[in-house]
Order: sequence, then structure tokens, then C-alpha cells
Amino acid sequence: MDCCAHEGPGGGDARFDIHKVADGVYAAVASAAYKVNCNTAIIESSDGVMVVDTHSKPSAARVIVEKLREITNKPVRYVVNTHFHWDHWHGNEVYPAAYPDAEIVSNNITREAMVKKGLKRIQDHMRQVPTEIAKLKADIQAASPAQRAKLEADLKLAESYLAEVRALKPALPTIAFEQTMKLYRRDREIHLLHLGRAHTEGDVFVYLPKEKVVITGDAMIGWTPYMGDGYPEDWAGTLDRLAQLDFTHVIMGHGDVTGREWLNTFRSYVHDMVEAVRQEAATGATLDEVKQRVTEKLAPRYEKPFSTYGEYRPWRAGLAANIERTFGMVS
Ligand SMILES: [Zn+2]
Repeated sequence: MDCCAHEGPGGGDARFDIHKVADGVYAAVASAAYKVNCNTAIIESSDGVMVVDTHSKPSAARVIVEKLREITNKPVRYVVNTHFHWDHWHGNEVYPAAYPDAEIVSNNITREAMVKKGLKRIQDHMRQVPTEIAKLKADIQAASPAQRAKLEADLKLAESYLAEVRALKPALPTIAFEQTMKLYRRDREIHLLHLGRAHTEGDVFVYLPKEKVVITGDAMIGWTPYMGDGYPEDWAGTLDRLAQLDFTHVIMGHGDVTGREWLNTFRSYVHDMVEAVRQEAATGATLDEVKQRVTEKLAPRYEKPFSTYGEYRPWRAGLAANIERTFGMVS
């Protein structure tokens, strides 16, 4: 089923395409947005629904709740957060409001990261977005008529995002597990796994062994990974543990539903980038030299596959940030 690019009331630019991945398992793949939204996985079981990740704002999660009601009248019982980043859990509050028995689930590491870092970053957003708004207003003044419509649309989105982030009622996990949590429903098994550090210290993978589906959060995405809170040196090893699971379909944190081929490419990119930075750093090269040399080295193999989303998430900018993070850790 490919349907329903959808703009819900108050959703702003939160749009999702719903793809059926297996019986009762759906991926809501987020479209490009002014404030990036993550994908959501929807898993319907005999007694209720699990959703995985809740986007950058409550209005985006409300779009999913509306879509869900078209799919099933069963209640959401579990909301899983794959990691502590804002664009994966700021919509949490919508679920307990819509479904009073909903539990929010993550591992202990991620819950702690939400408390220690995530809550503070909400304050950061409240400080930063007004600066963004002032810049958009200045840009509109200086813009050509052709540029103006886009900037004005962005301004509206920035203003409504600020209102949402100011009104946010951060809903932290109500259930936290250590390494693994398994749910045995009448019709399916759902495994929540921590396989090591990658995109963050606490990445949670959701695995459906019978349906051969895995949900990766941002440990694997459709464009160049964000490593600002990540562990580049551990990442490929964590993906190797992921590769040991038996699956055919992958619902990633961002980007379209994919399969094992993309895991291979993505894992190789992370591995080759880290190795190339390590080698260059060992020669005593400066960060700028390392950026230039590693980009030249990796571009022939990786520029094209990591450019599927074009200017929305350009590879070279992502790579430069990845190199900088890795260089800081290995040198
Ligand atoms: Zn993330």
C-alpha cells in the first residue's frame, strides 16, 4: 500500500507516506520538512499498537494518530523511542493524551540521555529559534521576489515550531529496560535491542523476527549519518551485530524503507570514513587537510549513493561534519 501523502490539521509541513511492510506493520515515511521529522514505524498486534518514534513536534505526531485511526481502531499501547534526539521524541506527549494507557518505552541509557541532555536542548531550541526567525525576516527583506515565497513559508513554519516547543510537555519513557525487552503477543514477537553504541550511546533497535523487519532509528538512515552525538569508532561494529539478525526489510529513522544492500553500503561508509580519518590523522595532517583528502578518497564510492536526498541533506556537508567528529576522537 502506497498512499496518503497527508497534511493533517495543524501539521504544517508534517507529511508522511504510509507503506505496508508486512501484515500489520507499516512505515510512515516523513517528507522533507523545515524542521526535520523522523519516520514512524507502526506495529499492530492482537491487543493494540506499538509506534516507534514521534517526530520533532506534537502536531506531527497528531498527523500519525489520525492516520492510525484509518488503519485500526485498536489503541496505541506502546511508544518506543529509539534515541534521545528531539526529532524522535518531541511528539511523545500526544500518545498518552490520545490513549490513556499508552506506555513510553526506551532503554535506561536513552531515558537518562533525555533527562540529562534532551531536556536542556528544549531550552536551547527556545533560545535559538527566535534568532532563526529574526534571520528569516531579514532575509525576506533582502530577497528577490522568486526567493520570497519560500522564505515566507519557512518563517511561518519557524513561528509555529517556536509556539509548539514553548508549549511542549516533555513525556519521558515510563518503562526503561537494560539490554533487551521482548514482547510476546498472540500474533507476533517484538524485540527491543541495544546492540552497542552508534548514532548515540543508547540506540534501540526494534526487531520483528517472524516478519523479518528491523527498525533502526538513526543508527542507519537514507542519507549521511549525523555523528554529533555519535561513536564513529563503535558504529560499524554495532551494525555488524545488526547484520547478524535475520531480516529483509529495514525501516530507518529517515529515508525510504530499504533492505540489506543499503546496510552494506551504509556500514562500509562508516567504516571507510573512520579508517581514512585514522590514517590521515596518523600522518600529522591538520583537520582541513584530513577533510580534503578523505573527501577525495571516499567520493568515488559514496557520493552518489548518499546523495539520493540531494540538497535536503548534502553528502559533502555531512561528510565534513563526520570527519570533524571522528578526527576529534582519534587524534
Ligand atoms: Zn538522531
